[in-house]
Amino acid sequence: MNEKLIDDIKHLLQWYRLNYGETLSIPGELSFDLEDEETAPAIPVLQPAAVSREADRESLADPLKIHGDHPRLKSFYEEIRNCRNCDLSQSRKHFVFGMGNPQADIMFIGEAPGRDEDEQGFPFVGRAGKLLDKMLFALGLKREDIYIANVLKCRPPGNRDPLPDEVLQCEPYLQQQLAIIQPRVVVALGRIAAQVLLKSGDSLKILRESEHSYNGIPFIVTYHPAALLRNSGWKALAWHDLKKLKKHIAGEL
Ligand code: URA
Repeated sequence: MNEKLIDDIKHLLQWYRLNYGETLSIPGELSFDLEDEETAPAIPVLQPAAVSREADRESLADPLKIHGDHPRLKSFYEEIRNCRNCDLSQSRKHFVFGMGNPQADIMFIGEAPGRDEDEQGFPFVGRAGKLLDKMLFALGLKREDIYIANVLKCRPPGNRDPLPDEVLQCEPYLQQQLAIIQPRVVVALGRIAAQVLLKSGDSLKILRESEHSYNGIPFIVTYHPAALLRNSGWKALAWHDLKKLKKHIAGEL
């Protein structure tokens, strides 16, 4: 089989999985469980550096994956990585600045680091991140093609919602990242990221269904991957949102 055909089949399988769930059966021929790592098609995923207990925490989060040696992003990272502006700095293991390609046309924005992200120093490296990788793959994208950051850079205890004061302290960091990276399109993952950046109190449903721009940049709102893990029935709606992104990538919007 040629590589293009294999790629097309992989994208089709990812699209199927996103929309219809985890088990694929092809009557009479073969069937395999997409959750089974032995038989499922390999999906290339950018792996964060291996975590070693002895290693010191700063060195775990490979700075190149964080700022890509981009001079402005790098100096901004250096400037804020020891931030102590709010109490989350007391409990965090890592300041999770962001990750990906500083030249990216697409920037994804999440809410705040969770336990895995706090451990490793990178955004979206836990279960929600794995689903995000599959969503990207279904769009023909990899982590290296995008930049991802969160509204909050430090983990709220117990993964509670960000407090207004935490957002107030942290949002300027995200605004500065957006100003440095200058994406062509922004994707907000979940209600909190959308409400914060759009300064809106609307529900996720309303936000998803309306058109937005952020400082003149097209702004797409979709479900947070963690929400899709809780309710796979929303995956078809998420795919509907992501098709807008696909159109932007193709230059059709
Ligand atoms: N959820 C988020 O919003 N961001 C992460 O980095 C991980 C989980």
